[in-house]
Amino acid sequence: MINYAEILKSSGLKATLQRLSILKIINTNGHITIDDLYKEMYKVNSTISLATVYKNILTMMRKSLVLEIPIIEKKSYYELKKSDHIHLICDICNSIEDKDINDLGLEINRVSNNFILSHSQLNLYGTCEECQK
Ligand SMILES: [Zn+2]
Ligand SMILES: [Zn+2]
Repeated sequence: MINYAEILKSSGLKATLQRLSILKIINTNGHITIDDLYKEMYKVNSTISLATVYKNILTMMRKSLVLEIPIIEKKSYYELKKSDHIHLICDICNSIEDKDINDLGLEINRVSNNFILSHSQLNLYGTCEECQK
């Protein structure tokens, strides 16, 4: 069990019920759009607005608890902050698969000696196994 209340508190944020459910929903889905997240939140609390969900996401992004995955010409997905990884994004069904960056056989430090890497986000676009059938 992940203790979301602890995670929020250690980032200096109040562990509100809304933030706790947002983190839980994102974790269950892996990667989720604001619209889908809002739909899930609405099931639990029909008085919540999309703006509130978005505001909470922004607050948690500022504290690096949540990351945005911008997708070209499509809506962004959001995920919980994990170690840096690659995304395999399907052009057809928008599914997103996490891959370890080491699977690329890339040694980031060797890419440039004159650049100090802080974090990375690498999105690879294509057709997933399911959509190839
Ligand atoms: Zn697909
Ligand atoms: Zn991911």
